[in-house]
Amino acid sequence: MNDGQLLRYSRHILLEEIGIVGQQRLVDGRALVIGAGGLGSPAALYLASAGVGRLTVADGDTVDLTNLQRQILHTDQRVGQPKAQSARIALNGVNPEVRVREVASRVAGDELAELVADADVVLDCSDNFATRHAVNRACVERRKPLVSGAAIGFAGQLAVFDSRRADAPCYHCLFPEGEDVEEIRCAVMGVFAPLTGIIGSMQAAEAIKLLVGCGEVSEGRLWLLDGLAMEWRSVRFARDPRCPVCVTGPAD
Ligand SMILES: [Zn+2]
Repeated sequence: MNDGQLLRYSRHILLEEIGIVGQQRLVDGRALVIGAGGLGSPAALYLASAGVGRLTVADGDTVDLTNLQRQILHTDQRVGQPKAQSARIALNGVNPEVRVREVASRVAGDELAELVADADVVLDCSDNFATRHAVNRACVERRKPLVSGAAIGFAGQLAVFDSRRADAPCYHCLFPEGEDVEEIRCAVMGVFAPLTGIIGSMQAAEAIKLLVGCGEVSEGRLWLLDGLAMEWRSVRFARDPRCPVCVTGPAD
């Protein structure tokens, strides 16, 4: 790190748990943020301000006036622009040191697999089950840690899946695909603006801890926030021995 970086990141370097070594890991780190909406906005902003060296932001949407109530990466002036482009402008405005790659498409298939392979940590900030399951499969295949967040109405969720660990559960173990889950979208249901800030910031916190290698990430635990009561509860979960995504061999 140069003098400018040492100064910029001094409040992290002061932390015993991060220090110069941890900050260098962030500067050398690569994060993939899927979705530049309510969750992706605070998550990407904290990753950039904290100095994660390479950030890829993938989002196929354009900025809409209804996004601005919570999606703090975007501005009134950038309504109509691709969200990935608007995100890059905002992130480099905070920290020009960060190399931001904008992917202005709804990633899937080979493109998603390549982006995941090129990341040290993946943040799922998307808003639909198809993307969530595709991101999970790619993370399990490439053994990349996945920080998953969700927010709807006043309800928030956070979970970390670290498939680098041999017996780690995956997103599919917790939310099996094809089960009769109703997809509820913010466009229909509404969402409490600061809730996306709380959950997205927690995703950034877990991702930064994973990159630095400090503390403990809340793996194997689903965190549920009731934003009206401001109450947290957590549920432990384990690998589903019949999971078609993360269990390759036959169960005993
Ligand atoms: Zn699984």
